[in-house]
Amino acid sequence: MNAAHGLAAPSIGTRLPKVGTTIFTVMSALAAERGAVNLGQGFPDFDCDPRLVDAVAGAMRAGRNQYPPMAGVAPLRQRIAEKIAALYGMRYDQDAEITVTAGATQAIFTAVLAVVRPGDEVIVLEPVYDSYIPSIELAGGTAVAVPMDAGFRVPWAAVRAAVTPRTRAIMVNSPHNPSGTILREADLRELEAIALEHDLLVISDEVYEHMVYDGEAHQSVSRRPALAARSFVVSSFGKTFHATGWKIGYCAAPAPLMAEFRKVHQFNVFTANAPMQYGIAEYMEDPAPWRGLPAFYQRKRDLFRGGLAATRFRLLPCEGTFFQLVDYSAISDLDEAGFARWLTTEIGVAAIPLSAFYEQPVQNRVVRFCFAKTEQTLEQALERLSRL
Ligand code: PMP
Ligand code: GLN
Repeated sequence: MNAAHGLAAPSIGTRLPKVGTTIFTVMSALAAERGAVNLGQGFPDFDCDPRLVDAVAGAMRAGRNQYPPMAGVAPLRQRIAEKIAALYGMRYDQDAEITVTAGATQAIFTAVLAVVRPGDEVIVLEPVYDSYIPSIELAGGTAVAVPMDAGFRVPWAAVRAAVTPRTRAIMVNSPHNPSGTILREADLRELEAIALEHDLLVISDEVYEHMVYDGEAHQSVSRRPALAARSFVVSSFGKTFHATGWKIGYCAAPAPLMAEFRKVHQFNVFTANAPMQYGIAEYMEDPAPWRGLPAFYQRKRDLFRGGLAATRFRLLPCEGTFFQLVDYSAISDLDEAGFARWLTTEIGVAAIPLSAFYEQPVQNRVVRFCFAKTEQTLEQALERLSRL
């Protein structure tokens, strides 16, 4: 007997008419079905540090298994505050200005729900990470998408022109998924000028903060006091510690903004799981894991780009993240979704179509590969891609 027991379920309409199953889930399922090398969905195919697993297991054995405080456990909030201060020079108050979340997705959604009211507009930059627009729409707001330029830089004049009296916030993401570009100091200056001039809030998705290459520094919005004073800064331990399945991250914001964030947080998740918080706090006593991350991923980027250079794909720049965009127009006339499917089923390498990051259909003949993989996986993928 099915769930409806033969009775018709009431029609509830939909809060998200444009949304289906995410492209990441679709491509991972197709890759698994076809036995393809999965360079689609962004996650490492290698394990996290056993010391981290031991620290979390130790916390469970030590009985850290009941509700932690709503904002997160004190030792972890302290470590987060220290890390941000050491890297970006901004000291957030660990008690009033940092909240541990169930991943960056929940942090972003919570920040959006805390600030966006029905009728508000929120500026996003296209290509845009897939959770932003649904979050804005569930809050009753309207997303105003400003296209990035051909080199995936932010056209600040266009951003300024998109501001209306209804604009409440702007969402930025650096290093940027899917393009791999980063914001530089001049970008933050522009962002700050626009935010101050129009009294806008900023939601800054910095989940790839430790994946910036070629000696560049990550430009966190928390580096600039006037910008930090109106920003929610979001990061993810899933990315930093190779544990995307753990779904744990955080948000930092000035106390008045954080107070509103926590009002929402306490009713959409209440708190993030306790043993991981204690385990991560212990593991973070040693800064080596995130300090070594740029070199770790730069080696993978260079290996992957080196191999792709010998194929008919055209490489786009990769300044950060663990993603590499490639132009396949010398190989195929298929549209991006069709090419990604074909590549997965016929060549045995899964990718994500760039078009998945746009509201309106666009076709650049570009797909995204994830290089957070072992050398062996990358070499296997390159061997298949070199046949094209
Ligand atoms: N923002 C961006 C840009 C991402 O790429 C991702 C995940 N890959 C997230 C947010 C979500 O992070 P989490 O898994 O911690 O929710
Ligand atoms: N952020 C990951 C990516 O861009 C996917 C996360 C997810 O599947 N929701 O591939």
